[in-house]
Amino acid sequence: MKRFSIAIAFVVGVWLAPFVPMAEAAPCLMVTLTGTQSGPSVFNGQAGAGTLVRYGDDSNDCAAMKLQFDAGRGTNMRLSQIDVSPVQLNAIFFTHMHGDHTEGFADVMMLRWYFKGPKIDIVCSSDATSVLGHTNSCRKFVMHVADAFLQSGEIAERRSEDNARLAGGPVDLINVITFDPKDEPQVVWSSGDVKVSAIRSTHTAGHASYRVDTPAGSVVIGGDAGNDVLVPPRASSTSEQVEKLAKGVDIIVHSAFHPVMGPDQGSGFPPRSFYRQSLASDLGAMAQRVGAKHLMLTHLGPSLGAVIHNQWKVPGGPLTQADYRKTVEAGGFTGNTIVGTDLATLRLPAK
Ligand SMILES: [Zn+2]
Repeated sequence: MKRFSIAIAFVVGVWLAPFVPMAEAAPCLMVTLTGTQSGPSVFNGQAGAGTLVRYGDDSNDCAAMKLQFDAGRGTNMRLSQIDVSPVQLNAIFFTHMHGDHTEGFADVMMLRWYFKGPKIDIVCSSDATSVLGHTNSCRKFVMHVADAFLQSGEIAERRSEDNARLAGGPVDLINVITFDPKDEPQVVWSSGDVKVSAIRSTHTAGHASYRVDTPAGSVVIGGDAGNDVLVPPRASSTSEQVEKLAKGVDIIVHSAFHPVMGPDQGSGFPPRSFYRQSLASDLGAMAQRVGAKHLMLTHLGPSLGAVIHNQWKVPGGPLTQADYRKTVEAGGFTGNTIVGTDLATLRLPAK
C-alpha cells in the first residue's frame, strides 16, 4: 500500500508539475526613439521620426510585443541596431503623412515582404481634407507604398527566386485600420493586455496622437501635435487633446521646438511651421500638469549641435541637451527629461 501511495504521488506530482504557478515574471515596457530628425532635412545621420514601444516581461526582455509609431527615414537601420527585424513588428501607427514620419515605411515593408513576414496592422487616420482643399490619405500612402518596386520588376524577380513571397509585394501583407480622430480618446488597437488609444490633434489634417497602456506602464506619443489655436495669443503651444490623452501617463514622447526658432528671434523659420509644433517649455508645463514621470523630447527643432536647422540659421548658435532641459524645467517640469537622440531608451520599471 505504501509503495502504491508513493507511485500515485509520483504520477500526480509529474502531472501537476506544469500547472504549479511559477514565480510571475515582472511585466516591463521599453520606449526607444528610432529617429529624432525634425522635418524634411537631413542632419548628422539622424533617422526620421519614430518610436518603438516594446512590452513583455523579464523572461523575454520586454519584447513580446513591438509597436512602431511613425517610420521616418532610416527606421530599419535603427531597428537593426537593437536587433529588431521588421518581421517582428506587431503593428505600425502613423501620426500623420509628413515624409519625416513616413519615408522609412517602404524600407520596413519591403524587408518584411522579402523575409516572408506575416501580415501586419497599419493603423492611422482615415482620409482628411485640409482647409486648403487637399486630402491627406494614409490609406493610399500605405496601399501604394511599394508601387515603385512592382513597377521596377523587383517584386516579380524576387518572387521568381522564392514563390512563397506574395505576388502583390508588401501591400499583400498590410491590413490597414483607419479611424476618425476625435476630441476624446478612442481605442484603435488592442492585443492581450495592451491597448492603444488615439485622439485628434492639430498639425496637419488627420494628425493623431496615441497612448499605449500596458500593465507595466503607459506612454503617450504626441507626434507633431500643437495647439488648435495656431497663432498667439494662446494659453499654450501644446495640444489640449494630447493633454487629455496624457492624464496620469508615465511617459510622454513628443516632438519639440525650442523658442529660439520663434519668429521674434530672427531665424526666418516660417511662423506657420513654428506655430503648429509644441515648444519644449510648454511641453514641460503640460507634462507637469498631467503628472507624467518622464518627458522624452524628440524631433528637435533645431537638432542638437546644428548651426543651420533645415535651411534656417539657429540664432545664437547650436543648442545642447542642457539648453533643451533648461527650457523644459523653466516650463515647470520636475520629472525626468530626456532630450532625445536616436536610440535613446527608457525602461519601466527601470532595471
Ligand atoms: Zn515632423
